[in-house]
Amino acid sequence: MKKTEILEKNIIATLTDIDEDCDFVVIDGIEHDSLNKAPNDIFSEENWTPETWMIKISKKSPFHKKISTFERNAWFRVKFELKIEIKKSNAIDSKDNLSHEVLFFTTQNDATDEQANEILSIKVTNASEIRRGKELQKARRFSKLVNYKKYKKSDIESIMNNAISGSNKNRNNYIIYDVGQANWTALIDTENCTSNGSKVLMFYDFGKPTIFNYRGLPSNGIDPLQNDISKAFVFLSHWDTDHWSGASTTAIYNRRGLSIDWDLRALSLKWIVPNQGRKSTGQKITPTSWRLALALHRNNNLVIWPTRVDIIYNSVGDFVIKCQPTVTELINNNNTGLAFFSKNILHAHSKYFILSPGDADYTSISIPVNIPINHMVATHHGAMIKDVNSIPAPADSQNSRIIFSVGSINQYGHPNQIMTQNYSNYGWYKQAFTLNRNIRGYGTVSFNSTQCYGCVHHDFKKGCPLLV
Ligand SMILES: [Zn+2]
Ligand SMILES: [Zn+2]
Repeated sequence: MKKTEILEKNIIATLTDIDEDCDFVVIDGIEHDSLNKAPNDIFSEENWTPETWMIKISKKSPFHKKISTFERNAWFRVKFELKIEIKKSNAIDSKDNLSHEVLFFTTQNDATDEQANEILSIKVTNASEIRRGKELQKARRFSKLVNYKKYKKSDIESIMNNAISGSNKNRNNYIIYDVGQANWTALIDTENCTSNGSKVLMFYDFGKPTIFNYRGLPSNGIDPLQNDISKAFVFLSHWDTDHWSGASTTAIYNRRGLSIDWDLRALSLKWIVPNQGRKSTGQKITPTSWRLALALHRNNNLVIWPTRVDIIYNSVGDFVIKCQPTVTELINNNNTGLAFFSKNILHAHSKYFILSPGDADYTSISIPVNIPINHMVATHHGAMIKDVNSIPAPADSQNSRIIFSVGSINQYGHPNQIMTQNYSNYGWYKQAFTLNRNIRGYGTVSFNSTQCYGCVHHDFKKGCPLLV
């Protein structure tokens, strides 16, 4: 018989925005004492690390109904019990694991022997809304990253311009990495591609799949950070974990919550991240994501998009828009992030753009006039959108291509089959999916069929694209 012990936990949690139509909800919370011990200002202490827990609660859980009806901005107290194995072993007793609530993040199945998960099961025992008090105020402040250093438009322009300086705009390519059910893309300089890999000018998103979809990664792994990233920076579309968790190497739960090992190469890059916008349309940054904000801040690399700025251009005409949901749209993280438009000069004499929307509904992206889009990444991994009429028209239907960043293993039914048909009906006939892999097991694709100039390496693990 295994020796087990039961630990009781008490967290202050909120709902994540993970898919509204799923038969589960995911909550993200911080351990009660950990929040109490936190400084009043999330960034003011150098050593405070929050003890955080993400929990997926299935429809079968007795708490699903109650928790799923909390308001998006509500915070609630959740009590749960952890069954812990006293003697470490790699074997997880599958009988014990049949609970209706499970811990949620990325890589716990990949943990080494030493890190082996000692948690056998989790059971939520109570949930009640918090309506007032210091804790609530603190959680709300933290989730907006208030009191952080204010950046100006010109600071962001310099980061963007510094990345492209010295590169030949006619020799850029836009890559969509095969990261399964997640999003991670890059603008690369194909002219200066070295035998060590591509020269990355910018990453847009940095995601790997969340736990149950994790097996959808290429089996030989993928590591875009092995490329030349000396000039690169990151734009984060929004704070959902499938868009940033590539910044961690391993993440595993133990009795003190999620323990994250950061990839130091990721923390060495400047990250421009969305937060609040006009008319209080902003991101709700949940406790697990505070961890990334803190790690970046401690490396001096957290740059928050300025609240009153709607659009920022670089010197060659690429630009980023702060998404703003319309009145009929859901205010959630997907629709309040940053969308990227890359000028696609490779197309002869073109003023064409490549649109990378993250997970935003197209209606929340106010596309300026005279911005013809000839390629795009499908929003939200090909999920259904509310208004199909908002699908941008392709500038050149014969050649325009749409790419879906999606894993063959996912719990969301992406890409939605009706949506791929809708895209086709709206002129996006040429469709590619990162789940369609080559013989070596990779589905990374790019928009321009041009290979890297003088490139001989073609290393799929680093994310060299397929010729499509
Ligand atoms: Zn999202
Ligand atoms: Zn996503």
